[in-house]
Amino acid sequence: MADWCGDVIMGNEVTLKNKTILITAAGQGIGGASALACAKAGALVIATDINADLLAKYDGVAGIKTRVLDVTDGDAIAALAADLPDLDGLFNCAGVVHHGSILDLDDAAWEISLNLNITSMVRMCRAFVPGLLRRSQSEGTASILNMSSMASSEKGFINRTAYGATKAAVIGLTKAIAADFVAQNLRCNALCPGTVDTPALQGRIAEAPDPVQAEKDFIARQPMGRLSVVGDLTPTVVHLLSDNSSFMTGQAVLVDGGCTI
Ligand code: NAD
Repeated sequence: MADWCGDVIMGNEVTLKNKTILITAAGQGIGGASALACAKAGALVIATDINADLLAKYDGVAGIKTRVLDVTDGDAIAALAADLPDLDGLFNCAGVVHHGSILDLDDAAWEISLNLNITSMVRMCRAFVPGLLRRSQSEGTASILNMSSMASSEKGFINRTAYGATKAAVIGLTKAIAADFVAQNLRCNALCPGTVDTPALQGRIAEAPDPVQAEKDFIARQPMGRLSVVGDLTPTVVHLLSDNSSFMTGQAVLVDGGCTI
């Protein structure tokens, strides 16, 4: 290949070598798949979850260490940040779906969604940004990824009032952090998946009055005629945490199978 090609070909091999990345809600579902994908790409992953039993499956898995963390516990977040080395990447994945319109949303349910979907991310970012900034200064880049959803980025969905509102707040938080730290090369992006087949989704289907119809309805809103699987998302997660995305910040990245076209 001619010498000049090296200057114009973009996209190095995606690697997370020498990066320490913390993931919340990594016990299963999208967070769990992301922990495995990041470790496979060479990162040291700190997989956190509220559920210690779910984390036990990582015992002996190369590249993954585990810590129990309830992201609604501000003191636990601060203590964990004080106890860990500085991070190169932070994936705030934890979140919860409240099913219902504004008429079904009492204050208690709203507080749960607010707490888990957005206040937790504010606290995680506040606790870990100083270390991420030290790494972005010494290594040239660091990256935060916040879990949002297609159900807020472009379009409203029925029975997703608390979810849509709090996941939209995630995008606002993401852009604000991106703007504040862009000059220091600390990047911050949001991920907006479509409907992903995870234990949480299976739980929502099982709880529906007619589970068979509920699954059909979830599939019907995906124009590709299938649910997303976690493997549809992990390449984007790894990319956004890697240096290959070093010119991307403040973006709400849709991986939704064309749902919002
Ligand atoms: P999941 O239920 O499969 O996994 C969620 C994990 O979160 C579990 O391991 C659980 O133990 C953990 N968790 C629950 N409460 C916690 C807390 N307080 N602190 C720490 N961990 C806690 O869920 P999932 O479907 O993989 O969803 C993960 C994220 O992706 C959520 O933010 C969700 O809103 C978002 N998302 C999911 C879909 C989807 O269709 N599944 C679509 C878009 C966005």
